Amino acid sequence: MLIVDDSELQRRFIAEQCRTLGIADIVEAVDGFDAIAQLRSNPRIEAVILDLEMPGMDGVQVLHEMAKLGLAPPVVLATARESELLNVVESMGKTLGLRLLGGLQKPIVQEQLLSCLGRVVATPSGPGPVERGIPELKLTEQDVLRALQEKAFVAHFQPKVRLIDGGLQGVEALVRWQHPEHGVLAPGHFIGFIEASQYISALTLHMLDTSLRHCRRWHAAGLPLGFSLNLSALSLADTRLADAIVDRVRVSGIAPGFVTLEITESALMTDLGITLGTLARLRLKGFGLSIDDYGTGFSCMLQLSRMPCTELKVDRAFVNGASQTRHLRILLESTLDIARKLNLNVVAEGVESLEDWQLLRELGCAEAQGYFVAKPMLGDTLPAWWEANKARLQRLAYGEPPFQEMAAPSDTGAC
Ligand code: C2E
Ligand code: CA
Ligand code: CA
Repeated sequence: MLIVDDSELQRRFIAEQCRTLGIADIVEAVDGFDAIAQLRSNPRIEAVILDLEMPGMDGVQVLHEMAKLGLAPPVVLATARESELLNVVESMGKTLGLRLLGGLQKPIVQEQLLSCLGRVVATPSGPGPVERGIPELKLTEQDVLRALQEKAFVAHFQPKVRLIDGGLQGVEALVRWQHPEHGVLAPGHFIGFIEASQYISALTLHMLDTSLRHCRRWHAAGLPLGFSLNLSALSLADTRLADAIVDRVRVSGIAPGFVTLEITESALMTDLGITLGTLARLRLKGFGLSIDDYGTGFSCMLQLSRMPCTELKVDRAFVNGASQTRHLRILLESTLDIARKLNLNVVAEGVESLEDWQLLRELGCAEAQGYFVAKPMLGDTLPAWWEANKARLQRLAYGEPPFQEMAAPSDTGAC
C-alpha cells in the first residue's frame, strides 16, 4: 500500500488503519513527485491512497501522470473539500482508465476508510486484459496478415441481458488475438494498429463470418440471439465493406435484424458524407445501428440527430459507479430519458455490481452488459453458460435477492 499525503499525521493515521486490516507492507510518499517515483520503481505497490490537495504536484496531476505512464494500481482518493469535487475527480480518473475504488472525506472516519480498504483488498492487482490505456505491441502488417491467414483472431462473445425479465437478448463480438508468443491478447494491444492498416476490413469480415456461424448454431439450439459487431471508423469510409457485409449476411440465411453494427462517435467525425451514406444503406437493409461508448465522444447529442441509429450503448464510465455518484446518476438518467424519447434501445456497458444492475433496472434501462452478467466467452460455451445462469438473471430482473453463491459474475475461463 502506498499512502500519499503531505501531512505526516494523516499518513501515520491511515497507515495504522491499514495495519488493523492486515495490510503490513506499507510505503509512504510525501508529495506527488515522490509518489510517481515510488510507483515507477516499486512494482510491489498494489494500491494507493492519494491525498488530492498537496503542494507541488497535486492528486489530480498524479492521476494524469499515472494514466500517462500506464501505472495500474487501484486508487482511493482523500480530500477535505466538498464531495462533488471528489466525484468529479473520481469520474475523471475512471475516464483516464484508472481503477478508482472510492473517495474518503477528510477528516477520515475509520469506518469509511475500512470500507474503502476492503475494496482494495478485494480487487485483484495488476492491469486487467481489457483496461484502457494498455500499451500496444510493436507490430508489422506482416504479423497481421499472418494472423489473419492462420485464423489467430478469435471472436469472444459477451452476453447482453434484458433488465426487465433477465432474458438473453444478444451478444457483442469482441476480437482476441491468439498470439504465438504473447498468449491471448485483448484488442487494446493491437486494434489501433490494425485500424490504421489495410487489414481492418478483412478483420471485420472475419469477425462477421465467425459470428454468423455461431449465430446459426445458437438459433439451431433454440437461442434466437442477435449479435453486435464493432465497426471501425475507417471501415465506414470503405463503401465496398457495406456491400460485403450485406452479401455475407444474405448468404448465411440469418436475417439482418439479428445483426447490429456498433459505431463509435469518433468514427462519425471522419468523412461524414460517405459514412452517413453507408450507414443509411445498412439501415435500409434492416441492420441495427448502435452508437458505441455513448457519452464519451464529441458533440454526442448532435450525432443522435443525424445518424439513423437504433440503439445507444452507454459507456461504462457513466454506468460503473453511478449508484454511488450523484453526477453520474444524473447523466445516466438524462441519457435514458433522451433515448426513450428518441425511441432508441439502450444498452448499459460495464455493469459490474449488483448496485449497478439495480440502479439500471430502477431507471428503466433496457439491457445490461458487463462482468456482473458475464465476461466475454467462446461462442461454443454460450448455451451452457445460459443454462447455468438464466435462473440467477431472472431472479435479479424480478428484484429477488440472488443466492449468495450465484451472485458472482460468471467466469467461463475465457477473457
Ligand atoms: P467496446 O466496444 O466498448 O467493448 C467493450 C469492452 O469492455 C470490451 O473490452 C469488454 O471486454 C469490456 N468489458 C465488458 N464488460 C466490462 C465490465 O463490466 N467492466 C469493464 N471494466 N470492462 C468490461 P475489449 O474486449 O478489450 O475491447 C476493447 C475495445 O476494442 C472495444 O470496446 C472495441 O472498441 C474494440 N474492439 C473489440 N473487438 C473489435 C473488433 O472486432 N473490431 C473492432 N474494430 N474493434 C473491436
Ligand atoms: Ca462495442
Ligand atoms: Ca463500448
